[in-house]
Amino acid sequence: MTSKAREKYDVVIVGASIAGCAAAIMYAQQGLRIALLDARSDIRAHKVLCTHHLQPCGAPILQRLGATEKLLALGMVETVPTFWTPWGVITPDAAENSPPPGFNVRRETLDPLLRQLANDYPNVDLLLGYRVSGLLTENGTTAGVYGTEQGSVFTVEARLTIGADGKDSTVARSARCDSVTASNGRFSYFAQLSGLERPGGETSLSWFMDPDVAYLLPNDGGISVPANYIYDPDLGSLHDYCTSSPDQFPSPGTNADFSGGCARHDMCYEANEGNSAAYVECNRQFKDDLLTVCDNVYSRGWSVVTRNACKTTARSYYEVVVLRHPSEWGGHLNN
Ligand SMILES: Cc1cc2nc3c(=O)[nH]c(=O)nc-3n(C[C@H](O)[C@H](O)[C@H](O)COP(=O)(O)OP(=O)(O)OC[C@H]3O[C@@H](n4cnc5c(N)ncnc54)[C@H](O)[C@@H]3O)c2cc1C
Repeated sequence: MTSKAREKYDVVIVGASIAGCAAAIMYAQQGLRIALLDARSDIRAHKVLCTHHLQPCGAPILQRLGATEKLLALGMVETVPTFWTPWGVITPDAAENSPPPGFNVRRETLDPLLRQLANDYPNVDLLLGYRVSGLLTENGTTAGVYGTEQGSVFTVEARLTIGADGKDSTVARSARCDSVTASNGRFSYFAQLSGLERPGGETSLSWFMDPDVAYLLPNDGGISVPANYIYDPDLGSLHDYCTSSPDQFPSPGTNADFSGGCARHDMCYEANEGNSAAYVECNRQFKDDLLTVCDNVYSRGWSVVTRNACKTTARSYYEVVVLRHPSEWGGHLNN
């Protein structure tokens, strides 16, 4: 196997997707010399699993990268959200409150454009097909990366090394960074459909069905992306008394549904496995969630008696769940 060493850079960035390209552009704007590496060799490569929505808070960054106008020209959709919740619909009031728009743009449009913008800087070397496998060290400090490219070993030295290589990051693992993993008990699926009639036009529609979530997002190229996240305790989250019970306080014609609060409590326990102090916070939030459901569902037009009956049921659920998770004494029940 041959081996080649490249010149020394100010910054080497591993991963030329959105984080890596954004970092490369910003460092390049400061006049630094950048090596931007990606294992994939196609400049049009893109991430597939994504809901393709950019929150309004991301807009200034897109602007700073010089990407906004170019993406709009490629069909990126300016959009405001509408949220459906069990207790009513939240629609930003454009006249009074003029919310900043977010954007919808498919990754097959976004990723190649950012990579091209980074590559356009003369002080960025975009090195595609370079798979990093570890970190160079010098006097106990990280001094760059090494890996393989077309069967050859390469090294890239730099003053600063950035891992933008996504989930299961080789750079993070090589630097022995800790990671935390928690199941969220959700199954999700996506599609890209053309010719779909969208009731909200260019509005991004979100349904918070607590705990399930669904979206319908208008995207570039006239494509709609329906996305669904289905909560399923069998996928790994705790399945306790609450989620295996009826989860509700029904009254004729309406229903206080506790399943969202129950699901969040399951996930909170699982994410904080063995941490008694965190369990206490999970329980406090759980109680709040259940009582909020009663307040919202049995508010106007309902008698205090019904609301209080709902709250009594909610408190019973709370007591049973907390008693059946003897958290502070070192364990919990998983049935
Ligand atoms: C189901 C789902 C829906 C999502 N929806 C949204 C959304 O609507 N809006 C949003 O903002 N975010 C969303 N996200 C999150 C978003 O996709 C990620 O946060 C984002 O892609 C992370 O970007 P990144 O550049 O850090 O990593 P990535 O996009 O994962 O890119 C990592 C890059 O590193 C390269 N690489 C990996 N290993 C190496 C190596 N050893 N050597 C060289 N190169 C390497 C890869 O080839 C890749 O190009 C979603 C995520 C999921 C899972």
